[in-house]
Amino acid sequence: MIQLVLATHNAHKVGELRRILGDRLAGIELIGYDGPEPIEDGETFQENALIKARAAAAHTALPALADDSGICVDALGGAPGINSARFAGTRDDADNVALLLEKLSGRSDRAAHFACAAAFVVGDREFVELGTWHGTVLDAPAGSGGFGYDPVFRPDGLTVSSAELTPDEKNSMSHRARAFAAIMPVVREQLLS
Ligand code: IMP
Repeated sequence: MIQLVLATHNAHKVGELRRILGDRLAGIELIGYDGPEPIEDGETFQENALIKARAAAAHTALPALADDSGICVDALGGAPGINSARFAGTRDDADNVALLLEKLSGRSDRAAHFACAAAFVVGDREFVELGTWHGTVLDAPAGSGGFGYDPVFRPDGLTVSSAELTPDEKNSMSHRARAFAAIMPVVREQLLS
């Protein structure tokens, strides 16, 4: 088995990713990462995903996979974007959701999208792919699944929030699923061929 480090400390994301990756991990052993977390000082999701993958690859001397994600709200000029996890300053999902609802209070333009960059680093080779998922910010939270901003995000074409989807439903259409669907053929080709 070829070892591949997953460079995230977010337990929710690790769980989602294991389900998303599923069969695409055949022949690959996905291992957790508990090394130092780098400063994410990139200006894009792609830069920050690469910073995390590079740090894990350097620390472990193994190939590494990382993601960086967030929600971009049109009426807020794309905020919170790469600052989604620390939007309210506390790293607490409920605080972040409350601040987002407060900033959009009384506004009818509530278009938003989730974005996820998936980065893969092996030796001196680096790859990154972006996935997006478009929708609308709801007026109030609904549902208890998922994490982060899921309770206030209604994907286009659906009548429920992404926190009301089953894990398999979310993973069939999410930004994270799209980014990893794009990067995994590259990972497999680099590691297994
Ligand atoms: P990261 O760990 O730096 O990638 O930060 C991601 C942050 O974006 C999370 O803490 C959530 O607030 C938000 N986010 C990313 N993906 C999702 C998702 O699938 N659902 C809800 N919130 C998400």
